[in-house]
Amino acid sequence: MGIDPNYRTTRKVVTEIQGIKVYDPYEPPKKLGIWGTIVGVDFDLCIADGSCITACPVNVFQWYDTPGHPASEKKAMPINEQACIFCMACVNVCPVAAIDVKPP
Ligand code: SF4
Repeated sequence: MGIDPNYRTTRKVVTEIQGIKVYDPYEPPKKLGIWGTIVGVDFDLCIADGSCITACPVNVFQWYDTPGHPASEKKAMPINEQACIFCMACVNVCPVAAIDVKPP
């Protein structure tokens, strides 16, 4: 099962990191929630495959270190989500369906 496409309404924003909203549950280092609103990445699903970073034509993602997380110790953070052109490449390449993209 991948990211919940309804997280923007069903989950609460618990914090903001480098300008990116974080949706609950957020209990680091084990639970990290979903990061981003236009481009959402479920950090609890992300396995640091990196395909999204390679696929994105406008460099929305950058690595963010998450030591101690059970799925992977770094995540693809949608740091430049405002730059998204909604090509859906990242959504299509993610092996664990951790990404949901929704125009604002
Ligand atoms: S939908 Fe396209 S432009 Fe937007 S983050 Fe994904 S790969 Fe980048």
